[in-house]
Amino acid sequence: MTTAVRDESTVRNAAPLARKREPEIPLSTKPYRLVSRETQPAPTIVDVAGVPVGGETFVVMAGPCAVETEEGIVEAARGVKRLGAHILRGGAYKPRSSPYSFQGHKAEGLRRLSRAREITGLPIVTELMSAADVEAVAACADLIQIGARNSQNTALLCEAARSGKPVLLKRGMCGTIEEWLMSAEYIVANGNPNVILCERGIRSFETMTRNTLDLSAVVAAKQETHLPVIVDPSHGTGRRDFVIPMARAAVAAGADGLLLEAHPHPETALCDGDQSLTLEMFAQLMEEIAPIVEVMGKSLRVGPTTSTEQLSFSGT
Ligand code: PEP
Ligand code: MN
Repeated sequence: MTTAVRDESTVRNAAPLARKREPEIPLSTKPYRLVSRETQPAPTIVDVAGVPVGGETFVVMAGPCAVETEEGIVEAARGVKRLGAHILRGGAYKPRSSPYSFQGHKAEGLRRLSRAREITGLPIVTELMSAADVEAVAACADLIQIGARNSQNTALLCEAARSGKPVLLKRGMCGTIEEWLMSAEYIVANGNPNVILCERGIRSFETMTRNTLDLSAVVAAKQETHLPVIVDPSHGTGRRDFVIPMARAAVAAGADGLLLEAHPHPETALCDGDQSLTLEMFAQLMEEIAPIVEVMGKSLRVGPTTSTEQLSFSGT
């Protein structure tokens, strides 16, 4: 779908006849028109290299926070695939709070991700941080992630939209649900309808968790929009021991999938080891969410990458 973007005041002030002549942007009582359920009641299903996200499926995206060595990302990819993950995550460009922390292997990280896809067949989700890298990231990613820190970077949203790749849009850590949906609107209004929303926790006064995972945002976003909504309980809590319970809760809240940090050796991880699941824990998570996914009327058996055998854990 390609739509022209118009100034809101043009629409508001337009005479009724003029409005009729410009049907490409629907009028809506909401500030986010194209992503609103008013405009499209049926759920959008986003095709991520053959994996349908939204509708009846429940999609699990898992892998390390950052791409480390080639052997490391291949081991992680093989591990999460065997246990039932549908999409491999891994950051090549890392947004770090400190300039002295590991910033990611960048172009070389993208190459290692592509290698992991070649070997396992898993589609890739990876973050785009700068418009300067859009071509390189789009050439590797099956799903381009816009991180929490860039959730309202409208220039970057437009670049990601124009790449033609599906976009995973995280909620800003201080962003309201309405602001998050308006960011999604930027992408759709710039010609790219393939947007997946991701709740990843918001900043609150609480210090026991890294962020406060707002599962009511899943309910709100699913009510307000037709876009798929997934949950990241890894950044949402910052604690490995909280990830499985909050993943179960996310499924029960109606999420369409999960984005999880899982690492074969989290104690050696260059980034976010404390919140990364071991592969044993990832296996447990997959087992524990399965009956809840079923109760919610969804299926974990999606796309070409899952099979019954892959759902049983047999060591690393
Ligand atoms: C990530 O998923 O790698 C990440 C940096 O998350 P967020 O943008 O939610 O902090
Ligand atoms: Mn991380």
